[in-house]
Amino acid sequence: MGTYLQILAFVLIGVALLWFGYTLFIGPLAGIRRVWRQRPKPPRKGTGFPGDPQVCPVCSARLDKKYLVKSLAFPSLTGGKDRLMHIRGCVYCMNGSRPRVCPVCGAHLGEDDILVARMFERPHRRSHVHVLGCSRCKKVGKLK
Ligand SMILES: [Zn+2]
Ligand SMILES: [Zn+2]
Repeated sequence: MGTYLQILAFVLIGVALLWFGYTLFIGPLAGIRRVWRQRPKPPRKGTGFPGDPQVCPVCSARLDKKYLVKSLAFPSLTGGKDRLMHIRGCVYCMNGSRPRVCPVCGAHLGEDDILVARMFERPHRRSHVHVLGCSRCKKVGKLK
């Protein structure tokens, strides 16, 4: 009788282990394990701060290298290293999928509004762009 109970106990433990393994690897708990394993990835297209490298100054979208901010640089009038620049925006805010905001005055910009910036060309380094304002707060002509 004692051996019979022992076998029964082993069988019960075995079934319990099987059930535990089933729930852990295949059953509902497996979903929790998968969530634990997934590490949060940084978003491809997040939001950055205007002025950061590869951040659109109009809509603050963090941009891939292939998406450049559409801008127009004028030859320097003073003959110095700084050039005037008109920034139209990036692929995200030029098709209206992101709000266009002037980082200087905070005004919401229309599709034909532009930002005026000063670009400082620095040898052997990335050009520095300083946004002066938009076509509303700087009172410059809109681009057609
Ligand atoms: Zn943009
Ligand atoms: Zn402005």
